[in-house]
Amino acid sequence: PRVNELKSKAMAQLKTAKDKEHPPPPPNNVTEPPSSDRREGAVYQVGKLLGKGGFAICYDGKLAGTSKRYALKIVKAQMAPKMEQKFQTELQIHSKMRHQNIVQFHRAFTFESCTYLVLELCPNGSLMDMVKRRKGLTEPEVRFYTVQIAGAIKYMHSKGIIHRDLKMGNIFLDKYMNAKIGDFGLAALLLTGKDMQVMRRTTLCGTPNYIAPEILEKGKKGHDHMVDIWSLGIIVFAMLTSKPPFQSSTTDEIYRRARDRDYEWPTAETSQKYISQEAKDLVATMLQDADRRPDPDMIVEHPFFISGYMPVASDISSKLRELPPQ
Ligand code: ADP
Repeated sequence: PRVNELKSKAMAQLKTAKDKEHPPPPPNNVTEPPSSDRREGAVYQVGKLLGKGGFAICYDGKLAGTSKRYALKIVKAQMAPKMEQKFQTELQIHSKMRHQNIVQFHRAFTFESCTYLVLELCPNGSLMDMVKRRKGLTEPEVRFYTVQIAGAIKYMHSKGIIHRDLKMGNIFLDKYMNAKIGDFGLAALLLTGKDMQVMRRTTLCGTPNYIAPEILEKGKKGHDHMVDIWSLGIIVFAMLTSKPPFQSSTTDEIYRRARDRDYEWPTAETSQKYISQEAKDLVATMLQDADRRPDPDMIVEHPFFISGYMPVASDISSKLRELPPQ
C-alpha cells in the first residue's frame, strides 16, 4: 500500500508538471485584436473542450455574429524556448498548407497571454478514436482513407514539406468523416531545387570531408520524405487490424521489430477478420527500405484499390449513423 501511495503521489506531481505547460481554460468570449484584414477585430464564443495535446488545448469556437465554427487551438504565449521553436515551425508550415485533406489553418492571434490558432473544425475526433471504437475498419473504408492521406502526403511533399509525425492520432475527421491531417509540430522543410543549389554552393566552400553524398549529387533527391510513406504503411496496417504492426512493451523492442520488419497479420485462428492479399502486399511495399518505397501516385495505383469496392464520401458519412454514440 505504501508503494502505491508513493506511486500515486508521483503520478499526481507528474500531472501538475504537465498541466503547467497547458494554458488555463479560456474565457467564454475570446477577442481577436484588430488586424489589417479584419479592422474591427472579432469575437469567438468558446464551446466545448475538444482535446488536450502535448502543450495545447483545443476548444470548439463560434465566430460571433456568424454560424461559422472553428477549432481554437490554444497555447501559452510564453513557452519554454524549445517548445517555442517547435511551435513557430508548426505555425509557419501549417499556415502555408491548403489541401482538402489537411486541417485548414485560418488565422492566429494573441489574447490574454495565450496564442490562438483558428483552425478548421474536425468534430468527429481522430482516426485513432474511430479505429479503436470500431476495432479496425473494413477494406473499402481503408481504401477511402488511404487515398485521402496519400493525396495529402503528395501535396506536402510537392511543397517540400515532410510531416514526420503522421499517425492515426494526428489525423482528424471532419463533419463528413473525411480525413484531415493536423498537427505540424514536427514537420520540416526539405531542401529542394533552389535551396539545395544555394546550400551546395555554400557548403562546397567548406571542407568536403563531412558532406553527405546526396548533397553533392545534383538532381538526385534524398529519401528523407519517404519517412511519411513508412508512417502511412503503419497507419494502413493499424486501420485494418486496429493495432500498429510492431507494438511492444518497450521502445527498444519496437525499434528492433521495425528494423527486422517483424510483424504478423492476424490469422483465421486469432481473428474473425479476413484481410486480402492485396492489402497485405500494399503494406509490405510501404515498409521497404526508403529508396524502394512507393510514392503517393504509385500507392493509389496499387491493385488493392481496384480489388474491391471503393466508397465515395457520402457512403462513408452515412456510416456515421451506424456508429455507437461516443
Ligand atoms: P499538440 O500539438 O499539443 O499535440 P494537437 O494538435 O494534438 O496538440 O491537439 C490536441 C487535441 O485537440 C487533439 O488530440 C484533438 O483532440 C484536438 N484537436 C486538435 N485539432 C483539432 C481540430 N482541428 N478539430 C478538432 N479537434 C482538434
